[in-house]
Amino acid sequence: MRLSRYFLPTLREDPAEAEVVSHKLMLRAGMIRRLASGIYSFLPLGLRALRKVENIVREEMNRAGAQEILLPLVQPAELWKETGRWDKFGKELLRFKDRKEHDFCLGPTHEEVITDLVRGEIRSYRQLPLILYQIATKFRDEIRPRFGLMRGREFIMKDAYSFDANEEGLNKSYRLMYETYERIFSRCGLRFTAVLADTGTIGGEESHEFMVLAETGEDVIVSCPSCGYAANLEMAEAVQNFSYPEEEEKTLEKVSTPDVKRVEDVAAFLGVPTWKLVKTLIYLVDNKPYAILIRGDHELNEVKLRRALGAEVVEMADAETVERLTGAPVGFAGPIGLSGIVIIADKAVAGLKNFVTGANEKDAHYINVNSPRDFEIDSFYDLRNVTQGDLCPRCGKPLELTRGIEVGHVFKLGSKYSEAMGATFLDRDGKEKPFVMGCYGIGVSRTLAAAIEQNHDENGIIWPLALAPFHVALLTLGPGDQELFEASEKLYHALWEKGVEVLWDERDERPGVKFKDADLIGLPYRIVLGKKFKSEGKVEIKPRTQKEAFLLSEEETINFLASEIQRACQSK
Ligand code: ATP
Ligand code: MG
Repeated sequence: MRLSRYFLPTLREDPAEAEVVSHKLMLRAGMIRRLASGIYSFLPLGLRALRKVENIVREEMNRAGAQEILLPLVQPAELWKETGRWDKFGKELLRFKDRKEHDFCLGPTHEEVITDLVRGEIRSYRQLPLILYQIATKFRDEIRPRFGLMRGREFIMKDAYSFDANEEGLNKSYRLMYETYERIFSRCGLRFTAVLADTGTIGGEESHEFMVLAETGEDVIVSCPSCGYAANLEMAEAVQNFSYPEEEEKTLEKVSTPDVKRVEDVAAFLGVPTWKLVKTLIYLVDNKPYAILIRGDHELNEVKLRRALGAEVVEMADAETVERLTGAPVGFAGPIGLSGIVIIADKAVAGLKNFVTGANEKDAHYINVNSPRDFEIDSFYDLRNVTQGDLCPRCGKPLELTRGIEVGHVFKLGSKYSEAMGATFLDRDGKEKPFVMGCYGIGVSRTLAAAIEQNHDENGIIWPLALAPFHVALLTLGPGDQELFEASEKLYHALWEKGVEVLWDERDERPGVKFKDADLIGLPYRIVLGKKFKSEGKVEIKPRTQKEAFLLSEEETINFLASEIQRACQSK
């Protein structure tokens, strides 16, 4: 492609709408444009890169024996009512009516549609296992669409669904998809890790997330360098790494704490460490009020809470509800004297003596609180986020916390959907049984953004070869120089012949502008035809990852690039 003809509107400045690097760079490099919140158009350069991810995903899914299909984005409510998710899914499910007043939604995921398809067609265990997938648009009306392609409302996902006759079959399909994901993200040239994950609203029995490692990631990855344990924050079990000193229980006392509410402020005001404060968080768990006790220096994990209580929905109570239940404004809730509300606590609160809590009264706290002397705790659960210094639940060595971006998710669904929707097959023993299912997603558009979060510098993107929209930027310097132009054109065609994808900057621009744009777009190799070509017949080659360029003849250039690209892009 010739740059002078290419629809590639680059931007010099960081756009105000973008907060994270990948979003900024994708806008600046002319890859995407925003249409509405969380909704983007792909421009030619962006689409080429997206297709690279798609193709790797497609090749590896096909290699695993999965079959590609394409399911509708628009889905009838009836299917979602069969599984109960029409009511449960919440506002991420964009619902609407057609002209006949029938309810529909835009598919945020396709378990219902695929289960409906398969229940009508697959009758016998002989037709199993079956893995179907698609690469298509999803719509989720995310509460906070942000970071460009990272958390869009409309985005591209690869979703796959496996159907097996039994658990053993599911375990095999799951393992196959897990390994396929490892191949996919390796081929993309990304540094990643798989972690244990919660199964969330999609439900099911076992799940792993695939995380691209990047400091800017939204997700925290908890891992153990000693034994290889890895989980996300929602799954990582917090193990006690300390025991409290022996203390006499002191006399309970109410103290005045005028206008101090935040944990740090209360601790400083009373002269105690933050871990001696116990926060009382008021939550509605499936609409039932709970007081959740957690140490001042710890953070509640809502997914752990939901799982511990086997709940569907947990939400923090609003200010009004807190006042009604505790009799005090937010910031002064405490367990003593609470009634009509279940009190539970994080495990780290067990054994804590003479701690501080709110007094259910404005501007007051209790000190020297002790349980069960002053109030009773219904039960203890692991409810807190693991923090730096916590120990591995498997081997007891220190855990490490790093950040990542979730690009893929594999779930064992079991027969949750097939049972709800009456999707059965005739098994070997002549009995009707529900399919045992798995589902497997990859955020294709998010993977592109994650690749940039992981690979960039202050000048722009640094594409991994396998995902680069083109492999090479060919820069012809010396505007109006016919000899250079013709040599460039020849090299351009020769490279394409060898499978090297070239973006040829033959614009009538200053070298500085061309170099800047090349760095911004970040193609893996920059080759220049300029002075050195005129004097010595040499092409200047610079990998985007390196500072220094080197010189090769035209023929050497073609051979070098062709073999580099073949090495990185072939499906191993
Ligand atoms: P998240 O926790 O980030 O919202 P999720 O658990 O809802 O993700 P899944 O339902 O497992 O996501 O979807 C499969 C994959 O689709 C995710 O691993 C992610 O890569 C991608 N994905 C999910 N939501 C979005 C979104 N709003 N924008 C872009 N990609 C997304
Ligand atoms: Mg989500």
